[in-house]
Amino acid sequence: MRVYNFSAGPAILPEEVLQRAGEEMLDWRGSGMSVMEMSHRGKAYLSIARQAEADLRELLAIPPGYKVLFLQGGASLQFSMVPINLLRGKRTADYINTGAWSKKAIDEAKRFCEVNVAASSSASKFTTVPPRAEWKLNPDAAYVHYTPNETIGGVEYPFVPETGNVPLVADMSSTLLSRPIDVSKFGLIYAGAQKNIGPAGLVIVIMREDLIGEVLPGMPVMLDYKTHAENESMYNTPPTYSWYIAGLVFDWLKRLGGLTAMAKINQRKAGKLYDYIDASGFYRNPVDKPCRSWMNVPFTLPEEALDAVFLKEAEAQGLSTLQGHRSVGGMRASIYNSMPETGVDALVEFMKEFAKRNG
Ligand SMILES: *Cc1c(COP(=O)(O)O)cnc(C)c1O
Repeated sequence: MRVYNFSAGPAILPEEVLQRAGEEMLDWRGSGMSVMEMSHRGKAYLSIARQAEADLRELLAIPPGYKVLFLQGGASLQFSMVPINLLRGKRTADYINTGAWSKKAIDEAKRFCEVNVAASSSASKFTTVPPRAEWKLNPDAAYVHYTPNETIGGVEYPFVPETGNVPLVADMSSTLLSRPIDVSKFGLIYAGAQKNIGPAGLVIVIMREDLIGEVLPGMPVMLDYKTHAENESMYNTPPTYSWYIAGLVFDWLKRLGGLTAMAKINQRKAGKLYDYIDASGFYRNPVDKPCRSWMNVPFTLPEEALDAVFLKEAEAQGLSTLQGHRSVGGMRASIYNSMPETGVDALVEFMKEFAKRNG
């Protein structure tokens, strides 16, 4: 029996996608082989890769002048590749600190440049987003980096910051494809696949072509975006199977009506969960209302002692992986695109019943 998997990542995938992958496992459309066994340079695989890119471009309405790269190394390697490639002769970069993932990006960037933390929500214990008007941006910064959705804290920006001529860089690992975005506002977007896109092992980079080509001297060829841009992400063997599954997810999203339709569903799912938490008088979410994530919903119970009981009983009802991140404790329900609305309904029902018995 499949459970509702609320894991933050690797995370739930659409059942339809898994079924299709299963059907195609031994023989991909008459090729006589599994996608896993295909040469990445063969006609069959190239058609899979190109279709995935075309569908992603269509879903996000990516304007001309942007490269889409399918890379490895996770979002964590982007914490290094961004400064390595985007400093372009400058010495400083602006970062906004809204929690655990921003902090990791900042620490890594410090190895390559002077980091100006232009705004931080540390005073609120990372339960909000600093308003744009309070940011102290440096006009000489090479770029501005932020984390639109903090996967651990469950904090999401309700706006896309304006940064003038300084390129805006976004770690969208846990929010890309949750809603439409205006890609033209960004210099570079990156996202690890295992949250809202597909299996682990793949990271997607969408970047302005004019930002490519000024890597720091002495860097490995694999860390230069130009290497991948010039070789259609096939300088070396790409993560072929993850790319294929991501393609199936893009196709699923298109058939669902694209990102406008997806956004409506996501907003409704998140709304149901937050509304119940707020009304319950039992559960609590500490995040400022306008900054609450649609994708990751942390919540606490009135006593820590109840956590283990909650998790055990939830698991028995097929509600899996609700444990919060070790750094914050409590619970976290990740309700990415692939989590059906029935999963959120089942969670809310269980929470109600649990609160009645333990309140
Ligand atoms: C999960 C996550 C990362 C790290 O991703 P890896 O693929 O494990 O390197 C970085 N940023 C955000 C926002 C994340 O959610």
